[in-house]
Amino acid sequence: MWIKRKHEEVNFYLTQILSHHGNFGSYLCKIGKKEVAECRYCAEPNDTPEHTMFACPRCEQERCEARMTIGSNISADTFLKSATERRENFEAISKLAQNILEAKYSEEQG
Ligand SMILES: [Zn+2]
Repeated sequence: MWIKRKHEEVNFYLTQILSHHGNFGSYLCKIGKKEVAECRYCAEPNDTPEHTMFACPRCEQERCEARMTIGSNISADTFLKSATERRENFEAISKLAQNILEAKYSEEQG
């Protein structure tokens, strides 16, 4: 159980997206925890952080919220730029990473 203050939690999740070291098929496969890197929610054969955050249909609802705050679509190529442009964008993207990764963890444990 992670008990941390809010801003530290946000960094914890966003760090996983940026470093690729987290609960992603691509990483788990690389470190030998999984035999295949495929996404557990859709047919994508390589579950990378970019796939989870910006492409996977499982996370469309969470993504939709972030898009409303940011006012445009977000992708692996543009999200860092958006995050540095406005504080609201940064918070929306951090929250998106947190919502998605928390959902992934809890679904895997349940
Ligand atoms: Zn997927």
